[in-house]
Amino acid sequence: MMAQYLEIKAAHEGALLFYRMGDFYEMFFDDAVAAAEALDIALTKRGKHDGKDIPMCGVPVHAAEGYLLTLIRKGFRVAVCEQMESPAEAKKRGYKAVVKRDVVRLVTPGTLTEDSLLEARRHNYLAAFAEVRDNSAFAWVDISTGAFHVMEIAQVRLGPELARLAPSELIVSEAKERELAQLVSDFGIALTGLSRSAFDSTGTEKRICDLFAIATLDAFGTFNRAEVAAMGALIAYLEITQKGKLPLLRPPQKESAARTVQIDTATRRNLELTHGVGGGRAGSLLALMDRTCTAGGARLLERRISSPSRVRDVITARLDAVSFGFDNMRLARDMRETLRKVPDLDRALSRLSLDRGGPRDLAAIRNGLAEAERLAGRLQSEDLPDLLANATGGLGRHGQLISLLDEALVAEPPLLARDGGFIAPGYNTELDEARKLRDEGRGVIAGMQQKFVSDTGISSLKIKHNNVLGYFVETTATHAEKMMSPPLSETFIHRQTTANQVRFTTVELSDLETRILNAGNHALEIEKRLYERLKEAILDVAAEIGQTSSALAEIDLALSLSELASTENWVRPRVDDTRAFEITGGRHPVVERALSQQSGEPFIANDCDLSAEDDAGNIWLLTGPNMAGKSTFLRQNALIALMAQMGSFVPASSAHIGIVSQLFSRVGASDDLARGRSTFMVEMVETAAILNQADDRALVILDEIGRGTATYDGLSIAWATLEHLHDVNKCRALFATHYHEMTALAGKLDGVDNATVAVKEWEGEVIFLHEVRKGAADRSYGVQVAQLAGLPDSVIARARVVLDALEKGEREGGATQKTLIDDLPLFSATPVPRPPVQKSSKVEEQLAEIIPDELTPREALDLIYKLKEAA
Ligand code: ADP
Repeated sequence: MMAQYLEIKAAHEGALLFYRMGDFYEMFFDDAVAAAEALDIALTKRGKHDGKDIPMCGVPVHAAEGYLLTLIRKGFRVAVCEQMESPAEAKKRGYKAVVKRDVVRLVTPGTLTEDSLLEARRHNYLAAFAEVRDNSAFAWVDISTGAFHVMEIAQVRLGPELARLAPSELIVSEAKERELAQLVSDFGIALTGLSRSAFDSTGTEKRICDLFAIATLDAFGTFNRAEVAAMGALIAYLEITQKGKLPLLRPPQKESAARTVQIDTATRRNLELTHGVGGGRAGSLLALMDRTCTAGGARLLERRISSPSRVRDVITARLDAVSFGFDNMRLARDMRETLRKVPDLDRALSRLSLDRGGPRDLAAIRNGLAEAERLAGRLQSEDLPDLLANATGGLGRHGQLISLLDEALVAEPPLLARDGGFIAPGYNTELDEARKLRDEGRGVIAGMQQKFVSDTGISSLKIKHNNVLGYFVETTATHAEKMMSPPLSETFIHRQTTANQVRFTTVELSDLETRILNAGNHALEIEKRLYERLKEAILDVAAEIGQTSSALAEIDLALSLSELASTENWVRPRVDDTRAFEITGGRHPVVERALSQQSGEPFIANDCDLSAEDDAGNIWLLTGPNMAGKSTFLRQNALIALMAQMGSFVPASSAHIGIVSQLFSRVGASDDLARGRSTFMVEMVETAAILNQADDRALVILDEIGRGTATYDGLSIAWATLEHLHDVNKCRALFATHYHEMTALAGKLDGVDNATVAVKEWEGEVIFLHEVRKGAADRSYGVQVAQLAGLPDSVIARARVVLDALEKGEREGGATQKTLIDDLPLFSATPVPRPPVQKSSKVEEQLAEIIPDELTPREALDLIYKLKEAA
């Protein structure tokens, strides 16, 4: 057995080997050590190899999925090795023959299909990057849904694409592995190197054609060599990991970067599109917007948020669909009730195609298609906008398959086909008969027991069943002698004596047992055969079911966005090819939600107008104290543009957006120590990327750029950056800064306007109004904000003195910092004197004397009148 183990292990370097032994998957040697630690399970020993103990650990087969998930999350790959025959079969080949085993599947992060290992509402992508001469391409596939895409991209765009799609695993040629290791690990993606041959574009073309059973790839469009290589590498890897059993994939769809808004990695992170600060979904725009009823709809929503469109007709069609639901809310809510009952068709289909499915997947297809039919029936009579009309057309006519599944399956089938019991009675006569025999047999047993009791006169006699003996007759030991002597011994054949019982069989009983067993096995076999047939019937129309599933997702998403718009009071944006950017009453949806949940405070809506002339950009320079709401304002405008272009209504009272081609968002100085770059360096690298890339349709948001360095450096850099955006990029931009000096630029540059977030000063404290107004902030209120934050009074007082001196010095000119500092009284940590205790008023004196509990209501009332007089 060890020889077999070592041979299989050698063929699967780099993966933990789950070696099936009966009801366990066992691991040995280094695998055992690593797995025991990762899974926190006991490490034991078994036998010796080269004179040393062999470390071993194991997990029960029935609980294996949970352990698999942990291992995959911790970055392992697992080769699952099964027994390909029963021990009995092996014995037939020879007394010492080892059970045949083989690896049936390599489990890697990008190739999961089990529901328990996947997030229902997220895609799980496996991606590949290929380079052929001067071209490079990126392809990705989700084998749990069949989605398959490819696009041409330069290697420098790989990072942003990885950020957009967040694949679990990336395949590259071995030659590229080192070069891309850092980039890929920054995204927490598993990197897999494959040999050059997997990327060979000629061999590959054939592989793709074979998979889809087509003669030439032209059937799917034109692809360059790099695109073919990337798609081929994916398929090669699936062949390796799925051991030849290929999943159902949809024909590859070519994506073009020119059709979607370009959003780079830092911007995605900043705007918290699909992941919040914590890294999970919480706090993200995705979490806020997700009102979808189906898993497919949720996955589509994530795709839309990650890749908003820049094609006007596409956006308009999506908005029309949302408007339809918005205008027909009753109908939309009805439809949503139906959609809630739709199971995950894509994933059920994928499991069936990979032979990892079960009766529940058949039922999922039946239920999903039936609900789709119901939806189609209801929507057909409506006057639908194009997108919904197309989707409704795509819901398909699956009547035949639905009635087949309806007749064949019980309402709620069990999980595993091997347990049987999922085919409905009345569907197959052969099965019905086998089942009847099996069940009748069980009834006959009861009758037989009665007969034995009366034949023997032993009332405690029982017929029982266990896995070793099968059916047997059991009496207590006290009756042993009677049973084992004639005449009873002629009928009852002794099988076993235990401490208290004796067990017998009879010819009649063992005959019956064989009949019951055979009937039961026969029934199971028939069910398995029927399962295969139903599965084939489904897979025959897999493409159509895939279409239905896409249509359901599309309808679900549109209606969920209508629901969102209606409950959150959002409006339909006007989106066109101008360079307008006019938002009135805009809100930040996530901050607004957080405020209403936490403090119940209202969110203050703000306007923004960055509409640009043909040959110039338009920039707002935003000043105002910290905590006033500058970042919130910046982000909300970016989000509104993005939501509009993904085809959603937006949180504003009106919005007119000329299509944005690229979205950039930068926040000054956020630490990136993990990558060993200083904060300021990161900030500058990111700013450089914007200045080099932004075109005149870009929307740029810069928050406190230059903050990471000394004042004059920072100011100069911010200044020059703004000028570059204005003169060269000519884009629409929002620029928040605390350098008040920059507000002078508004007078110098056409198309640069000052805006400020208003605050009110009241008794030495600031009150944030969160209102964005035209004009510059008069001062920064830093000291007041510091006071709010709870800095000690002494420090605040001292800061005020220093500030006064600095401001005075600046006004009078000439004073250098050196003389200023010399002039300031020496810093003293003496606490600020407490404000003198004020003499209390007459009213206060009177109040101090009152003991409220001792007053009658009448006296209290009198007192109020008296106090009022005195005040
Ligand atoms: P800044 O960038 O000016 O330092 P932020 O944008 O981070 O300020 O806002 C600080 C806090 O003020 C936010 O966390 C939010 O709670 C609140 N806030 C911001 N904008 C608004 C608004 N328009 N209405 C209500 N509260 C707001």
